[in-house]
Amino acid sequence: MKVNAIRMHQYGGPDVLQFDEIDLAPPAEGEAQIRHTAIGLNYIDTYHRTGLYPMALPAGLGSEAAGVVEAVGPGVTEVKPGDRVVYTGRPADAYSERRNFPAWQCVQIPDGIEDDQAAAILLKGLTAWYLLKRSYRVQAGDSVLLYAAAGGVGSLASQWAKSLGATVIGVVSTAAKAALARANGCAHIIMADDADVAGRVRELTDGEGVAAVYDSVGKDSFIASLDSLRPHGVMVTFGNATGPVDPIAPVELAKRGSLFLTRPILFDFIGTRESLLEAAAELFAVVASGTVKISINQRYALKDAQQAHIDLEARKTTGSTVLVP
Ligand code: NDP
Repeated sequence: MKVNAIRMHQYGGPDVLQFDEIDLAPPAEGEAQIRHTAIGLNYIDTYHRTGLYPMALPAGLGSEAAGVVEAVGPGVTEVKPGDRVVYTGRPADAYSERRNFPAWQCVQIPDGIEDDQAAAILLKGLTAWYLLKRSYRVQAGDSVLLYAAAGGVGSLASQWAKSLGATVIGVVSTAAKAALARANGCAHIIMADDADVAGRVRELTDGEGVAAVYDSVGKDSFIASLDSLRPHGVMVTFGNATGPVDPIAPVELAKRGSLFLTRPILFDFIGTRESLLEAAAELFAVVASGTVKISINQRYALKDAQQAHIDLEARKTTGSTVLVP
């Protein structure tokens, strides 16, 4: 079968994304063939595109999509044709009209959640889940610092953290994003161009510092983030929007109060079907209860993936973005 898909033949800027026609084989053992109805855009897609996270080329792109199971390969028990499913994972090939994917990583979409909403939240919402419930377990009364608070992960994480009783200090780059972040539950906002983020955090926390920093900005914010923590605080560095963090000496953690440092990645928290379903159930529950609201603030046709990447990297997007095949 022929399908349209984004293909990369080399690493580079958004212009390496080509809209090609490719051959799709029937699903192999353990695979489901999914006809995509909505594809999630994620910042990790830019790391794959640039080669920061290397892949074998030529390659597809995209780590998240929702759609309908059209066929299953031998041995598949987790899903069946006709199921509405959403998935996140590798290999990155979600920027396509349809693809084959391991069935055990597909999650049935509950009634009440549309396909595009599922594609908008699975990767980002599961990330918010492990950040707040595994990397550092937020306690009621904690103050936490959250970067890119009006972005995809940030919009979901700020709402969820507030519901857990945290005081969320959000970092954003514009006044419009500040308004969104406040609406999503951030109690305080620090502007991203503030030269003294750690000083502002101290002011906002009566000099104490925050219990945890959720830092997706990476290289440029790392030291200010460490400086923002209270003694025994947890530094969660989980993204590279400004590039990967430079190596540091462990003594830097000692100097600032016996800090903890973790560099997590989602796929280590959903590596079994049991853990994936547990996490997804928690995510769908906070959506169903209205605790976490989904904002799809941009939509692009799949063939316009280049423009979606340009806008994402130019910091023009807010909330979630969906590509429509
Ligand atoms: P976002 O929608 O949050 O977009 C990225 C945001 O980062 C921008 O909107 C911008 O917000 C901020 N940013 C700060 N500096 C820059 C810069 N120099 N260039 C571009 N953006 C910048 O993306 P996602 O929700 O998809 O992902 C958020 C982050 O989380 C990413 O860094 C991603 O890699 C990471 N992530 C990590 C995972 C993991 O398991 N480790 C899983 C999922 C995501 P502002 O303008 O307000 O500063």
